[in-house]
Amino acid sequence: MYLIVGAGISGSVLANLIADRLNEEVLIIDRREHIAGNCYDSKIENITVHKYGPHIFHTNNKEVWDYLSNFTKWRYFYLKPNVMIEGNRVSLPFTLKTLRELFSESMAERIENKLITKYGYGVKVPILDFQKSKDKDLNFIGKFVYENVFKNYTIKQWGLKPEEIDASVTARVPIYISNDARYFQDKYQAIPQEGYTKLIENILNHKNITVQLNTDYKDLPNTKEFKAIFYTGAIDEYFNYQYGELPYRSLKFDILTIDKEYYQKSVVTNYPNDYDFTRITEHKYFLDEKSNNTIISIEYPQVFSLGKNERYYPINNEKNDKLYNKYLTLSAGRSRESKKIENVYFFGRLGDYKYYNMDLAVERVLKLFKEIFK
Ligand code: FAD
Ligand code: UDP
Repeated sequence: MYLIVGAGISGSVLANLIADRLNEEVLIIDRREHIAGNCYDSKIENITVHKYGPHIFHTNNKEVWDYLSNFTKWRYFYLKPNVMIEGNRVSLPFTLKTLRELFSESMAERIENKLITKYGYGVKVPILDFQKSKDKDLNFIGKFVYENVFKNYTIKQWGLKPEEIDASVTARVPIYISNDARYFQDKYQAIPQEGYTKLIENILNHKNITVQLNTDYKDLPNTKEFKAIFYTGAIDEYFNYQYGELPYRSLKFDILTIDKEYYQKSVVTNYPNDYDFTRITEHKYFLDEKSNNTIISIEYPQVFSLGKNERYYPINNEKNDKLYNKYLTLSAGRSRESKKIENVYFFGRLGDYKYYNMDLAVERVLKLFKEIFK
């Protein structure tokens, strides 16, 4: 029998692969009282609520899409969030459309022409690139987006200055020289028709899989009997924090029922400069659920503190990645691809300490499975 720690999407997909393709038995445990990890959703008053924040599945990876499609039908869904800028609700990502929503026609047209001439249509330019620009308008727009979309949202979200965070995070909010108002441009974008929890339930529904909830790895009496252990929890916790704690970011969600049909015009509204929260999600939009009430969640970033809240985001930067790599050496792994301590493998958002979206988490598992059981 194999043991999998964590019944999030990473652990669950691996459980299914081992159970189904190898016809081997799997015990999968989770210390929470539910499956699905941070993708968990559940109904509150007939509305499917994403308990741990808005989750939109998006990928360019056909193998990942096809694999998950074995377990769910999809509702195609394009995230088109809004962002509050100086009291105006405008579209995000910052596109040519946003320019027109914010500025006079002549100004928007002038900047649009300069952007297209310099970078070309359909190009995503990281906002930091504009700071080097000698053109007054391009320099202005770079600074404007930095100040009004990026800077304070990032400080709130990460508790760090933008320059203290990995550039891949900043690159997630470019100026997109396009009229395409979708937040993601991936080929496949959808929400599982019956929700994420049902998707994970279907993945785990196999005669060779036993699910045990409310069970922490450290409380298992005997782990020697397992053929291998696959661990999707935090690697620093596994090694008893012997080199110190890896930093994570957490969140607090205020989930509120509002007594009107709709609260806001889009599923997600970001608040970079206003208030202490970063975004408000209105959940009925995900599956286009009808109801006289609506449910929103207000998202407040927090420091992760052991025993007080959950780990949501690894904070990837040079210092923290170095500490992670120290733990990796303990696990005798040489790279993120092959981390192994005797028969224990680490993966998932916490095990790899990587800011994975769901598709990358699944891609990692499909590769890991091939690597180990080829
Ligand atoms: P997790 O979901 O964290 O699962 C790990 C599980 O292990 C948890 O259930 C935990 O309880 C359990 N565990 C840990 N330690 C132990 C232990 N010692 N014993 C027993 N159990 C243990 N991705 C997208 O693709 N699109 C999105 O729109 C998106 N939005 C997001 C919004 C927010 C606010 C957050 C936080 C994440 C978002 N993600 C999104 C990312 C997505 O949540 C992750 O990619 C995915 O959850 C990773 O799954 P995982 O199984 O690796 O980790
Ligand atoms: N970001 C920002 N302003 C926004 C949206 C995002 O500055 O309005 C930055 C911020 O640093 C955030 C990162 O971009 O943490 C990634 O944003 P994304 O929406 O992808 O975050 P997630 O859904 O993973 O929390």
